[in-house]
Amino acid sequence: MKQLLVVTSILFSTILSFAQSSGMDDGKLRIIAIGAHPDDCDAKFGGTAALFAEMGHAVKFVSVTNGDAGHQTEGGGALAKRRRAEARESARRLGIDEYVTLDNHDAELVPSLEVRHQIIRQIRNWNADVVLSPRPNDYHPDHRYTGELVQDAAYLVIVPNVTPDTPPLTKNPIFLYFSDRFQRPNPFRPDIAVAIDKTVDKKMAGLDAHVSQFYEWMPWTVGKDGEVPEGAEDRKKWLKKVFGAFQGSSISDEHRKSLEKWYGKKAKDVKFSEAFEVCEYGKQPNDEEIRRLFPMLK
Ligand SMILES: [Zn+2]
Repeated sequence: MKQLLVVTSILFSTILSFAQSSGMDDGKLRIIAIGAHPDDCDAKFGGTAALFAEMGHAVKFVSVTNGDAGHQTEGGGALAKRRRAEARESARRLGIDEYVTLDNHDAELVPSLEVRHQIIRQIRNWNADVVLSPRPNDYHPDHRYTGELVQDAAYLVIVPNVTPDTPPLTKNPIFLYFSDRFQRPNPFRPDIAVAIDKTVDKKMAGLDAHVSQFYEWMPWTVGKDGEVPEGAEDRKKWLKKVFGAFQGSSISDEHRKSLEKWYGKKAKDVKFSEAFEVCEYGKQPNDEEIRRLFPMLK
């Protein structure tokens, strides 16, 4: 009986790993967004992630650092624990599958081999079709290095001899960048623009879960900590007013042009949107492939 169990379990895990590696699928797209801090993916991709989730696709957020430096009066393990809980609550509100916070120190991230292996494992284990990250030009070193680490992984995820404890992907995913406002050496290019009017309230609810950040730390960094209202509903309204414009909801002329490309005449009615740039590494999608991977654009 014991032998039978062992054989069954080996058989099952073989089928499972074959299913994963062959992409034998349930029709679900598998999306992984990798940010530096436990609120970055929410801010740049929360609305689109909620749309994917509503359509039944699998979405995972990863924070490469544990966020243990992001507060004016708290820090260390206690803050990391608080932020991990906030991230999980945000995932719940967005309706996505998972939010993982890796235990690298905040504001101390370097593009080391060790962290590269962590990123490769995350992308492989998720069997990702689409990977998102910041660009490597950004004011925050953790954002820059997260961008670099994901780029470093973009080819290596298919190489069996790299990080051999985790089976390689059999197909290279497409890699996309989150939007940003930085101009040098080149500005962000909105190749893909997604209308998020339908899910913007979910996105704001996700951000609202990060109490330590949006009501404590970030207001403090810009001298607005005295302005945060007390009540939960008033706070949410304040968040939408103060931070909404900076969280990927403001639409530039270039961004608007991209919306017109993807939505045609309907683009003019879009109030909230998130945009993404296709990275030159990884699989290079044509427009048809982008519409397959972003079915909300159909
Ligand atoms: Zn960040």
